[in-house]
Amino acid sequence: MLPLTDRAVRASFVNCTKGETQRLAVPRDLADQPWPDLDFYGWRDPSARDRGYLVAPRDTGLVGVALRVAAHTGHLRRGMCSLCLTTHPGDGVSLMTARKSTRRDDSVGIYICGDLACPLHVRGKLTTGKRLKESLTTDEQLARMTSNLSAFLDRVTA
Ligand SMILES: [Zn+2]
Repeated sequence: MLPLTDRAVRASFVNCTKGETQRLAVPRDLADQPWPDLDFYGWRDPSARDRGYLVAPRDTGLVGVALRVAAHTGHLRRGMCSLCLTTHPGDGVSLMTARKSTRRDDSVGIYICGDLACPLHVRGKLTTGKRLKESLTTDEQLARMTSNLSAFLDRVTA
């Protein structure tokens, strides 16, 4: 994807109020992100570990979603990300929920790599997770990840 600026990131959020968008923690090292290897950009708030964010380019423009990271219940041994199908031991996969629009009472959840770095796991740039051996090419696996993400974003914005 194309490199993002702080301004573009903040302007992309579909489920935050204006105040939340101004306050949310956008990484300062945007210029150093591996943009050519990213199909979407996700990060955790280093000072509020229950918050995660992802921003994805869509046909209609950039769509950013703020996520709440559910606390782990402790008995999850290994989880699989529902976007990129990488498995991680322990709490490497998290249940994250996105509020629909700015209404607090309605949200949708997804099991996703806790580091929100799915594109890097699929490309083999990160090896902290385990990838299934499958006959699909990397491009096909990326297409599947993008389509899974698209389905989730459709649910958030529905
Ligand atoms: Zn993933």
